[in-house]
Amino acid sequence: MAKTRDLQAIISHCKEYGFIFPSSEIYDGLSAVYDYGQYGAQLKKNIRDYWWWSMTQMHENIVGIDAAIFMHPTVWKASGHVDNFSDPMIDNKDSKKRYRVDHLIEAFTDQIKQQNTTAKNGMDADTMLVQMDSLLANDDFAGLKSLIDAAGIPCAISGTCNWTDVRQFNLMFRTEFGAVAAEEGEDNGVYLRPETAQGIFVNFLNVQKTGRMKVPFGIAQTGKAFRNEIVARQFIFRMREFEQMEMQFFVRPGTQKEWYESWKKERLDWHLSLGISAEDYRYHDHAKLAHYADAACDIEYDFPIGFKEVEGIHSRTDFDLQQHQKYSGKKLQYFDNDLDEATGKPFGNYTPYVIETSIGLDRAFLMVVSSAYELEDLSTDEKKDDRVVMHLPAFLAPTKLAILPLTKKDGLPELARELMQQCMPHFSCFYEEKDAIGKRYRRQDAIGTPFCVTIDHQTKEDGTVTIRHRDAMTQERVALSAIKDLVANACAFPCQKP
Ligand code: ATP
Repeated sequence: MAKTRDLQAIISHCKEYGFIFPSSEIYDGLSAVYDYGQYGAQLKKNIRDYWWWSMTQMHENIVGIDAAIFMHPTVWKASGHVDNFSDPMIDNKDSKKRYRVDHLIEAFTDQIKQQNTTAKNGMDADTMLVQMDSLLANDDFAGLKSLIDAAGIPCAISGTCNWTDVRQFNLMFRTEFGAVAAEEGEDNGVYLRPETAQGIFVNFLNVQKTGRMKVPFGIAQTGKAFRNEIVARQFIFRMREFEQMEMQFFVRPGTQKEWYESWKKERLDWHLSLGISAEDYRYHDHAKLAHYADAACDIEYDFPIGFKEVEGIHSRTDFDLQQHQKYSGKKLQYFDNDLDEATGKPFGNYTPYVIETSIGLDRAFLMVVSSAYELEDLSTDEKKDDRVVMHLPAFLAPTKLAILPLTKKDGLPELARELMQQCMPHFSCFYEEKDAIGKRYRRQDAIGTPFCVTIDHQTKEDGTVTIRHRDAMTQERVALSAIKDLVANACAFPCQKP
């Protein structure tokens, strides 16, 4: 299957077939905000459900919660987001365009790599990236500015190298909570959460106690997060409102390295279970660790825009729980009565360490769609032909089965409706009578429906139907009564565990 590098083709396809629309499109859209249409919402839900199922149902020691988007403002002080959740930015004085420094340098190195040349000062792309990582790791903004100047990186809009200094810019959205009492000097400011993780940390004890959870255990959550991204382009890859699927795994201090390695592997296995090839993934270990981490890596997927992060795995130490303990004045500890072999005594009280797995649902959506989309050339010597097909894994496809009576008469619609009634409670079906059958098949291919069933005159005689398989376009005759189980079995979540 030929993978497309054409992001524009994917954007157009998502729009044309009801997957994704620009937000408030009739008002010309809102930058980096998108709405999911009828098929997109269902596909997104299926990805979310599969993640939730893999994390909670398939692990005895992981439970899921749903925390609020608004949180006490001190949460973000404690977590470090008020002081540290910022990116180094630089502005071009001529175009007034603002760039994230790492994105500006990476785009430039991609370009000189492709053109097989070097920067103005003779530096090659890889050396520049190594320098950038080290300057970022040291928060050396003057050094980053010198690197940009020395390499002669121009602004994509103005074409000039007339840059401001590098500055930090906080990414959190702030809003007012309740009645504004500015005249009384009160600060009613709250933030829209920039990550879902903190809702898990502040509920750590609630869940541990009420669920009688024993370390190691995990808390999973999916939900919206908001970031005032400066460079918000590349479709749903970088949005200002997006959804995360995060899991915090609480472990005994000292065991975090093993758990980090184990989650690194388990999460990549989850990605591979989507039927995406291993060559399309790679790990990227972080050179610059976030303020809370003692190890961190990204799982990167080869998007049409190149290898980029789809999921982060972070060993967050006990930073968050310690911080919330400090700021709230409440003890967030766990009593471990397992025996320590070294001392023969229980491990006792401690603040657990945390391994976090954090995947963006919208990025996962873009990954699934990018890997599934194909413009297939079906031309023969006699005839030119192509089809757009989404090779979505059956368990993620928004519609599992299209039920298509060959004609609108002779009792065929009645039989088709009967099948519809039988299947609807079990999986999502689509019914259509209009247009030639070939045309109807192609429309289903374009939204990724794995199975089409055609009810024809023979169905009335012998109770069989034609089932068509999307990828191979093969057709076979099977009993009408077998369809429900056949499709349900083919669309079940894949079990990754024995
Ligand atoms: P990036 O470096 O691309 O900005 P990040 O390292 O800030 O991402 P994390 O804070 O680790 O991202 O968030 C976890 C996941 O949330 C990311 O792997 C990504 O899939 C998703 N994510 C983060 N920011 C966005 C965004 N603006 N739009 C869509 N998804 C996002």
